[in-house]
Amino acid sequence: MSKKNNPVKDIDKLSHLFNQINEPIVCVKCSDEFTSGQTDSKSLQDYSKFDVGFTNRGFQIWCRRHNVNVCHFKFGDKQPEADFRCLEKRK
Ligand SMILES: [Zn+2]
Repeated sequence: MSKKNNPVKDIDKLSHLFNQINEPIVCVKCSDEFTSGQTDSKSLQDYSKFDVGFTNRGFQIWCRRHNVNVCHFKFGDKQPEADFRCLEKRK
């Protein structure tokens, strides 16, 4: 088998396309409501309703529940690297 077609090594190189989030970004209002027990949601992740997308300035996370900005990244002059490939682990 050639090095080029080794699926195990190839998947190691793509591990960043699986969920690697270790510091979630949260809406402060959603977080306050969840932690004070004002919701029936099992997790803050389930309670949050975000829109995410590109803007003229950069990239924005918007809370649909509270209609507020959660975070707006500014890219500046340099185009960031983005990878839109969608991988699923075999079951
Ligand atoms: Zn919110």
